[in-house]
Amino acid sequence: MTIRLKKNATKEDKQKIFDVLKENGFGYVEAPGETANLICIMGEETEKMELLELLESFPGVESVNPVNDPYRLVSRRLYPEMNGKTRIIDVDGVKIGTEKPIVIAGPCTIYSLEQALEVAESVKKSRADFFRGGIFKPRTSPYDFQGLGREGLWILGEVKKQTAMPIVTEVMDTRDVELVAEYADILQIGARNMQNHTLLHEAGKQKKPVMLKRHPYSSLQEWLCSAEHIAREGNLNIILCERGIRTSTNGEYDRNTLDLGVIPGAREKSILPIIVDPSHGTGFKKLVPSAAKSALEYGAHGLMIEVMRDNEEPLINCGNKKVPYCDYKQGLTASEFDALCKEIKK
Ligand code: PEP
Ligand code: MN
Repeated sequence: MTIRLKKNATKEDKQKIFDVLKENGFGYVEAPGETANLICIMGEETEKMELLELLESFPGVESVNPVNDPYRLVSRRLYPEMNGKTRIIDVDGVKIGTEKPIVIAGPCTIYSLEQALEVAESVKKSRADFFRGGIFKPRTSPYDFQGLGREGLWILGEVKKQTAMPIVTEVMDTRDVELVAEYADILQIGARNMQNHTLLHEAGKQKKPVMLKRHPYSSLQEWLCSAEHIAREGNLNIILCERGIRTSTNGEYDRNTLDLGVIPGAREKSILPIIVDPSHGTGFKKLVPSAAKSALEYGAHGLMIEVMRDNEEPLINCGNKKVPYCDYKQGLTASEFDALCKEIKK
């Protein structure tokens, strides 16, 4: 249940409502930011319904709405005044959530400044809006390269300094959220951590927008509940990212099954923008361009695409060793990415 306050509601009006809720054992949370005229009531709401309805006659209250979804702050039903529009998230002047799709591009993993910079410069020329690159990598096998870690974060700072591109990078550990937020313009929470609630809460407490990837086994409702965990902490700047789900294809012809239908579904159920990662969503570069274009046809607000240098080899220099390049099969080369951008613009 949600209480919507009148625009001219005073502090005292609010306090009266909070007092009644507290006296009657209800938890509550105020919606953050520009939606601060909303109070969400927590817990089971079947009890004391009458009291809540009575609140409708309190000074400062415009309406009491029975939005009882397991997610609320991110639910479209809470914002009838938005008339089906998406929440627009402005990052350094780039607006995510409009009908003009945004593009995030860069390598799966960062191995060196030289590699990161070369890719950043090429995707910038192709007019990508953001540079992405993994410093903390959630690799399935613990024997695979897990990313440069904290010692590699400076590379993101340098890429931003030299290219002026805003940065998207993953954070995997609550202990790193604050530090990563110093380098990232958007914090990525990866598919594996979609239900890591302590990480979601930390991401919700800091100010940078959060891109929340969908877990391959999660339903739309579970995904939106995860977004709600972030929103409840005060950060409603959340971007959903569909990256393929696990079905019965078993990697024979794709790595994951890109769930395009979830795009209109998410747009209907939530006010949050949704973008698509056709690289992890398909796993093979030959499938990436058509998946990317289809995602836009389905209404995605943007794309995140893995891009590598034109001459990239499956083994790459990292410090004084060579390591296998992560997700090599799905990465577009800079030229292939450029061709795709031209097609998308058309
Ligand atoms: C990534 O974007 O590099 C990544 C690891 O993606 P996911 O969390 O979707 O597997
Ligand atoms: Mn990857």
